[in-house]
Amino acid sequence: MVLIPDLLVTGGDVVTMNPRREVLLGGAVAVAGERILAVGGTAELRARWPDVPELDATDCVVTPGMVNAHQHLTGDPLARACIPDDIDSEESIHGWAVPLHQAHLPEDEELSALLACAENLRNGVTTIIEAGTVANPERVAAAMTRAGARGTVGTWGWDVDDAPHAAPADEVLDRLWAVVESYPAGGLVEGRVTLVGHGLASDGLLAGAADLARRTGAGMTMHMSPGRADVDHYLARSGRRPLLHLADLGVLGPHLLLAHAVWLDDAEVDALLGSETAVAYCPWAYLRLGQGVTRAGRHAEIFTRGGRVALGCDAGNAGDAADILRAAALAAGLAKDTAMDPGAIGAPEAMEMATIRGAEAVGMGDRIGSIEAGKLADLVVHDATGPQWTPRGDVAQQLVWSTDGRSVRDVLVGGQVVVRQGRCVTLDEDALRIEARKASARLLERAGVAVRRHWPHVRSH
Ligand SMILES: [Zn+2]
Repeated sequence: MVLIPDLLVTGGDVVTMNPRREVLLGGAVAVAGERILAVGGTAELRARWPDVPELDATDCVVTPGMVNAHQHLTGDPLARACIPDDIDSEESIHGWAVPLHQAHLPEDEELSALLACAENLRNGVTTIIEAGTVANPERVAAAMTRAGARGTVGTWGWDVDDAPHAAPADEVLDRLWAVVESYPAGGLVEGRVTLVGHGLASDGLLAGAADLARRTGAGMTMHMSPGRADVDHYLARSGRRPLLHLADLGVLGPHLLLAHAVWLDDAEVDALLGSETAVAYCPWAYLRLGQGVTRAGRHAEIFTRGGRVALGCDAGNAGDAADILRAAALAAGLAKDTAMDPGAIGAPEAMEMATIRGAEAVGMGDRIGSIEAGKLADLVVHDATGPQWTPRGDVAQQLVWSTDGRSVRDVLVGGQVVVRQGRCVTLDEDALRIEARKASARLLERAGVAVRRHWPHVRSH
């Protein structure tokens, strides 16, 4: 069968992230259906396929779509900047996040996910791993599909107390199995075994979830050790530090993507690396919540030792901006500063975490993360005409240090244009804004939380 592309993305500098990390100056990408058919010179691909429509990327930089390995799609998006930034994570979760989640109606979850997907896509994030706090996975999957964002979804559960969605381990596992079965591998949205993690799962639930992930090939994600609390919990519960306890249970392995893993000791780092367990590193959240990443974080070491590390943006009130380029800059900066060594990982490695190595960490490296023939056509066109791109220096440095999601002009996911000229074209952004503001006010009222504003808000006439 002779394939003819539907679209040529032409004239841009194509940051392929292929194994040679080639940047094709004035390159082109041929897209056929959901996949990349060819990558080459603009003149070359135009000569090969003269009558194919073009997306002109002259004066632009084209990168693979970025991977956000830990993003809460519900709970926070309708309460953005509503949770104070001067409280600890315990108060933030129990005083705010839990009541907000409890007050969500199914339609709030869908709207919330739609809003979060729109933000991610506009910032060049094309793959989102939902973090494990969704009550209505079908509504969230519908929103991801409508927005055109690739990703994985699960449903939350815990079996250790009477908090919302608590249930016996078997029931939680049944719910997770149903999601995995409903959204099989290969679709835009895939099911993933998700647990809240921390100290909120019995040994039976942890082991059962890992078993389900291995059996179905769906992968698993959960939170662990962003701060010291999980370390204290597992020491009291089992006499072992968290990752060693998980290793004892057979939970660690290539199927597992651990969110955070900030507070690890040497033995835990070895257990993580030895088991090929992946990490979603969300540096802004640890800084925002004061969790001690500058003191305890070992992500740069894990990455340079060959570990699987992706970047994440966490939640709208923990990390806040869903912008992987901002996270990439912080990851590189923290690595250099904590080591007091400018030779520690920098912009090129941070871009790897954002793209190909992030894709590998979330178990999708064979399909996404680089611009190569045969891969899914998840592409970001960055407008490189602004002052932050002038003059043009090293492209990795410019992507990581000079700019962020604001340069993103066009985004394709699976060959479909989902962002054009900086706006989502898959949904009505103005209607979404109006609807989200109304839903947010109703949600806060139902949850019984009032936004604490730092400065007097004075009505003006
Ligand atoms: Zn999280």
